[in-house]
Parts: sequence; C-alpha cells; structure tokens
Amino acid sequence: MPEGDTIHVARQRVAPVLEGRTLDRFWAGKLRGRRPRVGQHIEAVRVHGKHLLIDFDGELTLQVHLGMVGRWSVPSGAVDDDETFARYRRNPRLRLYLATAGGVALCYAAPTIQTFLRSDEPDHLTPLSNLGPDLCVADADAAPVVAEAVRRLRARLPGSDLIADALLDQEVAAGIGNVYRSEVLHRHGIWPFTPVNRLDDETLTALFTTACRQLWRNSRQPGPRRTTTAPIAGDAGRTDNTFVYHRYRAPCRRCGTPIDRSYEGRYARSAYWCPRCQAEPDDGVATR
Ligand SMILES: [Zn+2]
Repeated sequence: MPEGDTIHVARQRVAPVLEGRTLDRFWAGKLRGRRPRVGQHIEAVRVHGKHLLIDFDGELTLQVHLGMVGRWSVPSGAVDDDETFARYRRNPRLRLYLATAGGVALCYAAPTIQTFLRSDEPDHLTPLSNLGPDLCVADADAAPVVAEAVRRLRARLPGSDLIADALLDQEVAAGIGNVYRSEVLHRHGIWPFTPVNRLDDETLTALFTTACRQLWRNSRQPGPRRTTTAPIAGDAGRTDNTFVYHRYRAPCRRCGTPIDRSYEGRYARSAYWCPRCQAEPDDGVATR
C-alpha cells in the first residue's frame, strides 16, 4: 500500500504532461463513471491522501488509487501516436493511457479508477468527501491540518480504538500507511496498541506533526528509498531506511532491543515496534 508521499512524487512526474493541456487520447480499462473526452482541458493534477486526482473542465475529476501494486509511469520522450498507443496497450496490466502534446502518462494495475463530478456546493458529496485532511504538507501549513486530524480522531472514533488503527484511518487524516504509522509511533515512544483515549491531545498533535514532516520530506526529496532516519552506512539493500518498519528481529536503532511485529488490529496490517522504547505502559496509561 503506498503512503501519501508516493502519490505526491507520482504527481510531480505526471503533472507536467497533463496539467494545463488538452487531452489528445484517452484509454482506460475498468473505468467507473463518465469518460473524459478527447479535446477536454485538464485544469489540474492534485493529490489527496493516497488518491491522485485529475481535474478536467466541466467539473469532471478522474480519481486513481494505486492499491497495493499500482504505479504511474511517464516514459521520457514518448510521443503519442497509434503505434505508441498500441505498444503500451499490449501490456495486460495497463489501466490508463492519457496523452497530450506534453507526452504520455500511463497507469498500471491500479484497482480503483473512477470519475465523479466535483462542485463548489458545500453539501455536494464525492468519493473523497469523508477523507481527512492530506498530511503531506510543509511545516508552515501543518498546524491547521494537524488540529483537524486530532479533532476528527476525537470525534469519529470510540476512545477504545488502538492508536495503530487510528493512524491508518483515512477519514481521520489522509496519507499515513503502514510505514509511517510504525515509524511515527516509534519516534514518540508510543506502544502501538495504546487505546486512543489514553493519549492526550498534545501527544496526538505530536504524532500527526511528525507524520506531516516525514511525508513532506520524502515527497520533496524522492530517492530510491523512503527514509525516516538519516542514511546509515551498511544498510544498503533494504526497501526503506527506517527505525522499525520491516525490521522484525533486527536491533532497535536506539536501544538494540530486537524489533517486534504483530498483525493485530482492525486492518490486520503489520505493525512494528521496539518493546523497550515503546513499552506497554505498566499503569495502563500511556503518555509521551
Ligand atoms: Zn528501542
């Protein structure tokens, strides 16, 4: 499952090909909703959480969620013509082909591709209406986003929900996936299975603020590996340069204790933590 920063990085590649341009060719496999027309103007390419959004004129928005295996591709120098289209079309995993005078944008294997009509009407519902704020924002913009995430967390969830689940809930805040929830909790020494009602607002604010920083940094400095740590020599070959994520049984980078892992929780996704840095609180009350 991609984290929000992955989609922001994809947007940086896709936008120059599409934004402000006219659609020359459109092909979609498994599209739900109205089909964009050749000749339509592309007003913007946006991100909200894990969704890439392509706004056409006429209030039509194309929404793509990459799921576990989807990806965007912008072949450098590709020029749309029948031969180019036929060549890419032969790949059975191709889901989207969008061409403008600026080039070609392709999407492979995405499970969710649909269109909806956006509107400025306040009660107009779209597939994104219930999503929390996008956490992938610069430091200067983070405070109101974090405050809204904390407000939603308090308002939406029963307090007995686990913080590890709450961080993945895209209706609380959009953009955190499996990597960042483990990393953020380790950064603040929080046991992943702490009920939300045992955490004060200051702690929740700190967790979401760290998530914003990590998402933003990785979206602006995309490298071969996402990092939540400074690069560490001798760690080449791992997918992610992390404190705890995907480091089951490896020594904690802070205290050396072997990292633990669990698939408990509402989403049955792997959570990683250090049993010493993020100990289960003795008194049942967790604080930062
Ligand atoms: Zn530790």
